[in-house]
Amino acid sequence: MVIIMKPKAPQSEIQRLTAKLESMGLTIHQSQGENYCLLGLVGDTRVLNENQVAASSEYIDRVIRVQHPFKLASRVFHPQDTVVDIEGHKVGGGHLLFIAGPCAVESREQIMDIAASVHQFGAHLLRGGAYKPRTSPYSFQGLEEEGLQLLREAKAKTGMPVVTEIMSPELVPLVASYVDVLQVGARNMQNFALLKRVGQTDKPILLKRGLSATIEELIMAAEYIMSEGNPNVILCERGIRTFETYTRNTLDISAIPAIKELCHLPILVDPSHAAGRWNMVEPLAKAAIAAGADGLIVEVHNKPDEALSDGAQSLIPEKFGHLMEIVQQIAAINKTASAH
Ligand code: PEP
Ligand code: MN
Repeated sequence: MVIIMKPKAPQSEIQRLTAKLESMGLTIHQSQGENYCLLGLVGDTRVLNENQVAASSEYIDRVIRVQHPFKLASRVFHPQDTVVDIEGHKVGGGHLLFIAGPCAVESREQIMDIAASVHQFGAHLLRGGAYKPRTSPYSFQGLEEEGLQLLREAKAKTGMPVVTEIMSPELVPLVASYVDVLQVGARNMQNFALLKRVGQTDKPILLKRGLSATIEELIMAAEYIMSEGNPNVILCERGIRTFETYTRNTLDISAIPAIKELCHLPILVDPSHAAGRWNMVEPLAKAAIAAGADGLIVEVHNKPDEALSDGAQSLIPEKFGHLMEIVQQIAAINKTASAH
């Protein structure tokens, strides 16, 4: 349930209402815009009657019962876009974020080389897996803590904050001590113990859509993180599994406007895991930015043929540079178009 206060509602009245609702066991999230104040009620609101609530103060404009199961992540609760700030790099609310790097950290030479290139071509954050969720237990599993150390070194050298995937709740303190953004991968989107644990950190979370997850399930996964106290969630559409097998996954472009309608969190697109092939990464990236995505996460490798994972979908740095130029032109068109 959301209470929309009248524009001139005094603070004392907002506080009185908040205290009254809290005494009924509810948690109240206040969202203050320039011309409005919303009170979002979290908890069991079934006992409340909208008309009675509306009549409980002359300063209440409207009371809305939220139809969706998510609350903290809901656009109704929080009409303005959330802007997540990663050491000065903002994403959401018109700020675009570009993340690039290899699927996995493989060696010092590899990560330093790629970090320097993607930095040169305008990436804001460096990605690199240290713990890899591989389909086969016999495939390269990542350098683990050594990989985290190398990411930290790459950050020291380039100044780029780093993002890496976290797969188990026990590793959260260790991984969070090395990196700036924790990635929850597609395979763990509904690992509720992990979602709760990362929700207890103060790190921004990059939450990828599960292989067969609906948009509502993705937003509910974000709700898990937020309900533990961490509001800094960045969603990521990375393609879903459909009957089509020509590409690795099917990029769901419609998820971008749908999520923007339902939810205030930023949404990135990962064209690399959607396509599975490097030559399709740029067209998908262009479509994503044109459709209003808040940025991209792209796999880049200096020697894709020798990559220990996802080489086939990795761009060489120069191709990433080209992609950056093109998508920035598209972003500029979006900006002009939305100004009219
Ligand atoms: C990755 O980013 O390398 C990855 C494994 O992605 P996803 O979880 O989307 O498959
Ligand atoms: Mn990968």
